[in-house]
Amino acid sequence: MVKVGLLTLGCKVNQSETNALEEQLGNCGFDIISFRKHADVYVINTCSVTSRSDRKSREYIRSALRRNGNAEIIVTGCYSQREAAEVRSIPGNIKVFSNTDKKNIAEYLIKEYTGKKETNKNSLPFKNGRTRAFLKIQDGCRRFCRYCIIPYARNELYSSPVTEVVGKARQLVAGGFREVVLCGINFGYYDNLPGLLEELCLIKNLDRLRISSIEPVDVSGRLIQLIKNLPVICPHLHIPLQSGSDRVLELMGRGYTSGEYGQLIDSLRTEIPGMGITTDVIVGFPGETEEDFRRTCDFVRKTGFSKIHVFRYSPRPGTEAAKMKEKVPEAVKKERSRELLDLEAQERTRFWKGYMKKTLDVLLEKETSIPGLGAHFTGFSDNYIKVAARGKAAVNSIVPVRIESMGENQVVGEILN
Ligand code: SF4
Repeated sequence: MVKVGLLTLGCKVNQSETNALEEQLGNCGFDIISFRKHADVYVINTCSVTSRSDRKSREYIRSALRRNGNAEIIVTGCYSQREAAEVRSIPGNIKVFSNTDKKNIAEYLIKEYTGKKETNKNSLPFKNGRTRAFLKIQDGCRRFCRYCIIPYARNELYSSPVTEVVGKARQLVAGGFREVVLCGINFGYYDNLPGLLEELCLIKNLDRLRISSIEPVDVSGRLIQLIKNLPVICPHLHIPLQSGSDRVLELMGRGYTSGEYGQLIDSLRTEIPGMGITTDVIVGFPGETEEDFRRTCDFVRKTGFSKIHVFRYSPRPGTEAAKMKEKVPEAVKKERSRELLDLEAQERTRFWKGYMKKTLDVLLEKETSIPGLGAHFTGFSDNYIKVAARGKAAVNSIVPVRIESMGENQVVGEILN
C-alpha cells in the first residue's frame, strides 16, 4: 500500500482542497498517514500569505525529504505557485502543481501508483472527525489590496455552480456532518451568495451553515437579513479589518473607512444580537505611525471583537506595499503585535463574560484531555466561541452547555441533559 502524508498550510480553502484530495486517495487504496511519518509520497499544500508562510512551506518540504529522501514530494499552493523555480531547486524528487492544476494531483498519483486512470474528482472534502466540513465554493481574487500576494497566486476567478455546491453539501450531511463551513478566497466574487445560502438552508438535516470569511464591502443588507432570518446560518462572520486608521486603510487600498466598517458592525449587532465577529489586523504596515496604531487599538476596544488574528506586516515581493519606503522597524512591529495580542485577549474575555451562567448550543467535535481540566469535549457554539464541556454526550452531537468559567483558550461548562 502506498503511504501518503499530507500537510496543509494557510487558509480554509487550502484545507478543503487537501481534505478532498485525502478522500480521493483514500477511496483509491492509498494509506493516508501522518505527515510526520515515513511516507512514499508527501503532498504539501503551501501558503504564501506572509514571508513566514514561505519559510514554513520550505521547511516542511525539507522535513519530508529528511524523513525519506526517496519519497516523491508534491508541492502545490500559493508559495509554489509564486516560487516554482525555488521549490524545484531543492534537491529531491519534487513535482510542482500550480493552483489551477491542484485538482489533478489525485489523478496523477492514482495513475502513477495504481495504474488506474479514473478518479472521482467530485470527492468530498471529508475531514477526519465528521462534524464540521469545509466546502470550497469560490477561488481567486483580483482586488489587489496593496499588501496581499493572493491576487498574484490565485488570479483565476471561479465560482462553483449552486447546484454543485448544494449537491456536495447534501452528501456531506448524508455522510454525518452537522456543520458546513463555506470557504473561498474572496466571496465578493461569488456570483450569488445570498441565492446559494437560501438553497443550502433548504437541505434537510443540515444543522449549521457557516460563512468563513468575508470582506466588509461584501456584507450586503440582504446577507444580514438572511443571517437574521435563517436559523441554520451561524451568527458569526469573520470580517477582516486590517487597520482602524483611515490613512492606513487608504494606503492598503482596502476600499472602506473605519467609520464604514463600524457602521457595518453596528447594523450586524442591531439586527443579530449575540453575533460573533472575528477579524484580522495587520500591524506595522509601511507608514503606520504610533497614532495610526493607537487608532487601531481604540477601534478594536470600541468594536468588541470575539477573536482577532494579529499579523505582523511582512513585505511580499511583487506587491505595491513591498515598494513603499516608510518601513516600520521590526522591533516596533513586534511591540505593536504584543500590545494588540494583549488587547485581543481582553476583548475576547469581555465577549465571553457575557455568556457566563448562560447556555450555549455546542457542536462537540472531539473528546480530549485538557491540562488542569481532565476529560472534556471541545467544540464551538454557533457564534464561534470555543467551548470545553464535561458530561455525558457523544462527539458530533449539538448539546446545550451551561458556561461556568473561562480558560485561556476557551470557555468551560457542563453539558445539560
Ligand atoms: S480582498 Fe485583498 S486581502 Fe483579500 S485576497 Fe483579495 S487582495 Fe488579498
